[in-house]
Amino acid sequence: MDSHTYQDKNVAVFGLGKSGMATAQRLKTGNAKVLVWDDNKERRAEAKKLGLKLKDLTKGKWSPTEALVLSPGVPLTHPTPHPVVGLAKDAGAQVIGDIEVFLREKEDGKLVGVTGTNGKSTTTALIHHLLEHAGKESALGGNIGTPVMDLPQLGEEGTYVLELSSYQLDLTPSWAADIAVLLNITPDHLDRHGDMAGYAAVKTRIFLRQSEAGTAIINMDDPICAAIAEEVSKHSRAKLVPVSVERAVDGGVFVVGGLLEDQSGDQPWTVDISGIMSLKGRHNWQNAAAAVAVVSCLGLSEEDIKAGLEAFGGLAHRMELVATRDKVLFVNDSKATNAEAAEKALTSYENIYWIAGGREKAGGITSLEPQFGRIKKAFLIGEAKDSFAETLEGKLDYEVHETLADATAAAGAAAMEDESDSVVLLSPAAASFDQFDSFEQRGDSFRNAVEDLIGEAK
Ligand code: ADP
Repeated sequence: MDSHTYQDKNVAVFGLGKSGMATAQRLKTGNAKVLVWDDNKERRAEAKKLGLKLKDLTKGKWSPTEALVLSPGVPLTHPTPHPVVGLAKDAGAQVIGDIEVFLREKEDGKLVGVTGTNGKSTTTALIHHLLEHAGKESALGGNIGTPVMDLPQLGEEGTYVLELSSYQLDLTPSWAADIAVLLNITPDHLDRHGDMAGYAAVKTRIFLRQSEAGTAIINMDDPICAAIAEEVSKHSRAKLVPVSVERAVDGGVFVVGGLLEDQSGDQPWTVDISGIMSLKGRHNWQNAAAAVAVVSCLGLSEEDIKAGLEAFGGLAHRMELVATRDKVLFVNDSKATNAEAAEKALTSYENIYWIAGGREKAGGITSLEPQFGRIKKAFLIGEAKDSFAETLEGKLDYEVHETLADATAAAGAAAMEDESDSVVLLSPAAASFDQFDSFEQRGDSFRNAVEDLIGEAK
């Protein structure tokens, strides 16, 4: 969709990632006077090739400017605002993100926004999948997949499903969702929000400006979110739908012992999701409950939701089942770049041949000790291998390997000799950057190693 709001106006775009580049192009085709910049030389060269006008926005005074479209990766407030923010404000510019530009152009269709510290991508993808599976028009974007400005104009019956990080919420002053979801809030990215109160305040913005017809979906198991639910019920006109994976919540959607119950509509109904591989683990039950609350509110039938849940393939690199050989599952959880994320995978399986290591995060794997009983043997790689070995010493059997391929071959061989059901799990509890460009590349490398070992992988 082209942006016409800024026709003949000066607009600056700082940060030329996928979304920044798409926004700059759409602004340009909508006849805005666009100046762009990125600290990275290659990004600038690419922008130039696309016919965008470069200007070093970090230096000198700007001419009067309507808006600065800032990449969510650039600090707006904490730890200190990036210099472009001050220059933009001096030039009279409103500082916004691509989703704000999108909102001004969107003509029709419902708006669903999902935020939270963890599970955003899974929940957003699941909502989109459930809608598409039921034959509804849906467009997925934001922090996941397609930049919002590359999404199509949808019809009245269509739904935009957007994943929003707290940074994006910060940059979207006119955000007003038909359905807004808050999954959870745990300490993360505090460097960018000052403190927990500041972080929670930004997340709460997902519920701003909701009308009477709106719905606020909130996880009640998280004390900060429960407090936010209390505020929303007092101050917002939207209908509150509580979600829980600990207990039955009146009028909400909850999962207890793998049984999901939807009480949000007129007719309560249940479905057993404990056997759905792509939704394994309580964290995924939370994502499923939130997603069901959304599509139920959008009018999907019980039958359509059940069929869609069964058919969900999950997301790549997040507890992704890449192959099965006899009694062995091969699971790629490369996205688990810290101990907290790895814990989710470890608690979802038993008899685990665990591949871990990479660039270590603060705290290492000491917090995972309660899960060691589920692990048959650990296969350690990367910079963290010695420190992880120290934590495991005397508590858990382990081997050290040079490469992920070697570790996978060894873990696979050991698991295939095991007579019980077992899982070869890559859930590194560490960043990938010591040996790989990204967690995606690390996951792909695991998949290739599995394929080399057993001749097949998804
Ligand atoms: P995000 O988009 O918020 O980063 P993802 O859906 O990509 O979240 O999941 C990333 C990781 O976070 C998963 O691999 C899993 O370890 C963990 N996770 C997923 N959902 C949840 C949840 N609801 N609560 C806590 N952790 C979760």
